[in-house]
Order: sequence, then C-alpha cells, then structure tokens
Amino acid sequence: MPEETCEVLIVGGGPTGLLLAALLAQRGVDVRLVERRSAPSTHSRAIGLHPPALAALEAVGLGEAAVAAGVPIRGGSARSRGRELGRLSFERVWPGRPFVLSLPQSRTEELLEERLAALAPGAMRRGWEVTAVRETREGALVTARCATDAAPSRLRARVVVGADGARSRVRDLLGVGTTGGPYPDAYLMGDFADPTGAEHDRGTVLHLEPDGIIESFPLPGGRRRWVAHTGSAPPPVADPADLTEIVRSRTGETPAAASVSMISGFTVRRRTARRLVTARCVLIGDAAHEISPIGGQGITLGWLDALDLAPLLHRAVADGSCEPLPDQLAWQTFERTCRRRARVAGTLAHVNMALGRPLPAPLLALRDLAVRAALRTPARRAMAWAYSMGWVRSMPSSPPGRPAH
Ligand SMILES: Cc1cc2nc3c(=O)[nH]c(=O)nc-3n(C[C@H](O)[C@H](O)[C@H](O)COP(=O)(O)OP(=O)(O)OC[C@H]3O[C@@H](n4cnc5c(N)ncnc54)[C@H](O)[C@@H]3O)c2cc1C
Repeated sequence: MPEETCEVLIVGGGPTGLLLAALLAQRGVDVRLVERRSAPSTHSRAIGLHPPALAALEAVGLGEAAVAAGVPIRGGSARSRGRELGRLSFERVWPGRPFVLSLPQSRTEELLEERLAALAPGAMRRGWEVTAVRETREGALVTARCATDAAPSRLRARVVVGADGARSRVRDLLGVGTTGGPYPDAYLMGDFADPTGAEHDRGTVLHLEPDGIIESFPLPGGRRRWVAHTGSAPPPVADPADLTEIVRSRTGETPAAASVSMISGFTVRRRTARRLVTARCVLIGDAAHEISPIGGQGITLGWLDALDLAPLLHRAVADGSCEPLPDQLAWQTFERTCRRRARVAGTLAHVNMALGRPLPAPLLALRDLAVRAALRTPARRAMAWAYSMGWVRSMPSSPPGRPAH
C-alpha cells in the first residue's frame, strides 16, 4: 500500500478543515487535507459569517475578498402578524466590524480552497475518503480510499485532525461517543430572487407567526434566503412552491418559486463529542460540536477552534514530543475553551429555536409583548450582542478583535 508522511493531516475539506490547513501552511507546517467529495459543493448552506469569522478570514488574507463577495447585514427586524415589533443593529457590537456578512458556504469554501492552493500547492486531496485511523506513540496512521485508485493509500502524520463534519467518521473510528440528540423541529429553506431590489436594506427579518417562524436574509447577487419552521418533520419532498406558499400564507410576502436556486428541508440536532483530544488526534468544527443552524453560528465556532488549534499544532510538530496530547496542559485548555464556546452558542441556538415555534394565540400575544419590550429597551443591546456573537469577546481564546496568527 502506498504510504506518505506529513506533519499534520486534516480529514475534511469543509470550512473548518480548509481554514485550519491555510493557517498551518502559513506557519510553514507540512500539512495535507483529504476530502471525500471529488468536486466542490455548490450548496449555499451556511450564509452567516459573524464578526469573529471575518477576523478568521483576515488571518489568512481573505478578509477583503470575502467582504467584496458577500453582503453586509447590519441589523434586522422582528415582525408578527403584519406589524413590526422592533429593530436591532449589529453596528456597535464589534469595533471595526459592524455587520454579519452574508456569503454562501460554497463561495466561502471556494475562497479558502484557492488560498490553500496558493499557500501549499497539492496539499488538498479531493476524492479521498478516510476509512481507518490508528494512533501510535509518535503519531497516527490513516487509511484512505481514493475515488480514482483501486488500492487504498496510507498517510502517516504526527497529529490527525478530524474536521469531517457532524457525522464524523474520524470520531467513530476513534471510538469517541457523543452527548445530545435531535430537536423536535424541522425547517424548509430556499434561496430566491429578490424582486424589489431593495431587500438588502431590510437586513434580516424574523416573522414570529402563529404557525411558526419565517426567517429571511439578504444574499449576494440580489437574492434572499427564506427559512420556514415546518413542525416536527420537513415535507417529504423539498418543493419551492410549498415554501413560497408557506411564506405567503404566514407573511403576505411572495418570493417567486420559479427563481429558486436552492431548496432543502432539514431537521436539527445538538451533539457534542465526549472527547475532543485523544492521544494523537483532535476533533474540531461540527465533528466536535454540532449545534442547530438556527442562528447560524456553526462556521464561526469551527473557525474559532481552528484559530486556537493552529499554534498548538505548530508547537507540537516543532518540539517532536511523544507525550499524549491530553496529558498536556495547553491541550486541556484548548478542549475546555472549545467546549465552553460550543455550550454558549448551542444555548443561544436553543433559545432561538424556542422563540420560533408555533404558539396558540394567548401565548403568542405574550411572546410578542416580550420581544417588543426587549427590542425597545436597552435589552436590545444584549440581543445584538447575542445575535452577532459578541459574547466571544469575553472568552479566553485567540482574540478575534485582531487577526490571530
Ligand atoms: C441548513 C443549514 C444552514 C446553516 N447555516 C449556517 C449559517 O448561516 N452560519 C453558520 O456559521 N453555520 C451554518 N450552518 C452550519 C454550518 O454549515 C456548519 O457548522 C459547517 O459546515 C461546519 O463546517 P465543518 O467544516 O466543521 O464541517 P462540514 O462543512 O460538514 O465539512 C466536513 C467535510 O468533511 C468531509 N468528510 C466527511 N467524512 C469524510 C471522510 N471519511 N474522509 C474525508 N472527508 C470526509 C465532507 O465531505 C465535508 O466536506 C448551517 C447548516 C445547515 C445544515
């Protein structure tokens, strides 16, 4: 079996793995990244990049390119039964970064992949699926099946990073279990043309309606993302006509079904790996902590993991120590910090989802009253702080107020 060696092997070329690979390549670490998919994903999926995510992009020289490709969301409003309950601005939470950037995940990954190719040509291997991981005293040995090769390949690394998403194979292969589980909520989401051409000025709009929330967000290219709560199961087939009808019946707004560029139904889970650091492997991103996408903090969380991990990995390969990673104080601190951030983000996403569930009329009136009060008093600063991940600033980690490299 062909065998290759490197200092750090990353499994998974989603946003988390790609950012980490670029950060390591910048530090001169000999890094490889293997990605199961043979071609880049075209799914717009995650669109919200919070201010700490912009700092992460700046750390690999992509801040300006991302802002040029995306749409800044400077705030938004909450509405219920045709009336505005109040507005929220993100402009004051992060000095120098007064917005959440809307950028489809496919474009974010494209920018990162290009950057990685420039920093470390050939470091990323597409069409390679990891099927086995074995930890040794000096490192870890990984077996991968290549889409174009009949024979599997072996990769030997000082440290292996599992950034392979919510259904992490690396996590399973290491025998690391998870805590948490599914939520009783399902959603239908789609991207549509923005017929008014002025949608961006509205920012994010949350419609808190009796039959469940409708969320809408500006997208680049004169488009808008619509997300609808659909009870405990998404429709069996994700049909744009169903979503536009749900949006129309709950809000009176009429996105054109024919203009859809992405439609998908999804259920949500909250799961955390029981261990993030094993003898010679580390889990980050969704592989380490999956939270509900409602509130859109997943990419930012994964990137904060990567920012903290890059200097640790650099040191680990430079000092050549074989001491198991979990025995070292710096790695214990890393694990604690990642868990703490995921706990806060997961709790906020939990509250967000609860806010958007269907409600009977008397409770709906109470909820409207509470939201209206919060958005018209100084409590709205706390809401802006929560919705733009201002809480990250008070956590002990790579300070996202400045590029962390
Ligand atoms: C509908 C939806 C909307 C969302 N909206 C937002 C949002 O607005 N903002 C936000 O921040 N987050 C959002 N999220 C969450 C966000 O998409 C995830 O948090 C993010 O993609 C996690 O990145 P990751 O790199 O850790 O994992 P992933 O993006 O899942 O990437 C993992 C990669 O590993 C690869 N892989 C898996 N197994 C193997 C293997 N055995 N060998 C090799 N490669 C493998 C996969 O092909 C994949 O490319 C949303 C999620 C969903 C589902």
